[in-house]
Amino acid sequence: MICVDCDRVILGPAVRAGVGESMSGARMDGYAHPPGSEECRPKVPHKRKLRAAMREQAAARR
Ligand SMILES: [Zn+2]
Repeated sequence: MICVDCDRVILGPAVRAGVGESMSGARMDGYAHPPGSEECRPKVPHKRKLRAAMREQAAARR
């Protein structure tokens, strides 16, 4: 499985990620690292920001 956020292989648990609107308009589903995953380091800055927020949320729930 490849993470839709960081394009890395997911070795541990994965969560389903609805990719929603892609450029072509086709709906595709993918998998992503879980919100709290330290392995997820997206290359795209705005995704990295999103991930950081998700990680904070996941940490706050604990
Ligand atoms: Zn990832």
